This record gives sequence, C-alpha cells and structure tokens, in this order.
Amino acid sequence: MENIALFPGSFDPITRGHVDVVRKGLGMFDRIIIAIGVNTQKKALFSLEQRMAWIKDVFRDEARVEVTSYEGLTVEFCRKAGAGLILRGLRSGGDFEYEQSIAYANKEMIPEIETVFLLSSPSYSNISSTIVRDIIVNKGNYSKFVPEGIVF
Ligand code: ADP
Repeated sequence: MENIALFPGSFDPITRGHVDVVRKGLGMFDRIIIAIGVNTQKKALFSLEQRMAWIKDVFRDEARVEVTSYEGLTVEFCRKAGAGLILRGLRSGGDFEYEQSIAYANKEMIPEIETVFLLSSPSYSNISSTIVRDIIVNKGNYSKFVPEGIVF
C-alpha cells in the first residue's frame, strides 16, 4: 500500500520552512499531498489560486508532490484523498503545544489517521508565513524566507 501523507496548512505564502518539511517528508513517504485549507473565518493575504500556483511551481519537477485545496475537516479530507498520515512541521515548543491538541482531536475523530511531526531545520526554525507577510506588506527584503523564484 502506498504511504500517502497530507501536508495541510494556509501557505500564505509558502516559505522555505514549508519546503524543508516537504523535502524531508519525501524521504519517508511515497507521496505528499500539499493541501491548502480554505478557512472562511481567516482572511488570507494571497488568493487561493495564487498560493496554489506558487506551490505547484516550487514542486514542478517533483512528481510525488500534489497540490490541492479543501474545505472542512482535515481528517475527512485525508479519507477522501486516501492519505493515512498528516504531516506537520514543528519549530518550537509553542508549535508542539498547539499541534498536540489538534492531533489528539483528529485521532479522536478518525483513529486510523496518524499525525507525523518533523522538526524544522535550525536555519528555518524562525520562519513563519506571518513574519513573511509582514515583511512583504512593509516592502522589506523577503528573498531569504521564500523559495527562489517567488516574487511578490
Ligand atoms: P497553519 O495556517 O495551519 O499555521 P501554515 O501554512 O503556517 O499552517 O503551516 C503549515 C505547516 O507547516 C504547520 O505544520 C507549520 O507548523 C509548518 N511550518 C510552518 N513554517 C515552518 C518552518 N519554518 N519550519 C517547519 N515547519 C513549518
């Protein structure tokens, strides 16, 4: 059976931290589905189409990475997509606290789906989409934080 991991998030926008997690994951899973969760309560800076286009471009040469979007519960989408694993990145203890409660809730809902955490590489551990958005909005130099070729 194929080992398929779903990597859910907002990716508003994708950062080098996200790419690092996916590249590590490719060494462990057969396929990774990067899935942008559409959250009507949370207003994104970039459109869904734009966020998807950037991610597709970053992984254009990687046939084992698929990019999609979903609405509703992540675990329900995993089921639909045939993913038995949820991939999440951890940068800090704060991330862990937050991620642990989500993982437990997901486990309660669908016990067969396992969440796998990958520790961020030290050089990417302080990159977040929130910081990147702030730099972009204030016209700072964001190039070290986002994958090469992405221009805002
Ligand atoms: P969310 O909107 O759910 O916070 P994000 O798009 O910010 O989602 O992130 C998706 C996933 O990528 C989360 O698991 C997050 O912890 C992880 N992530 C974000 N930035 C980094 C980073 N610099 N290093 C490792 N993991 C990261």
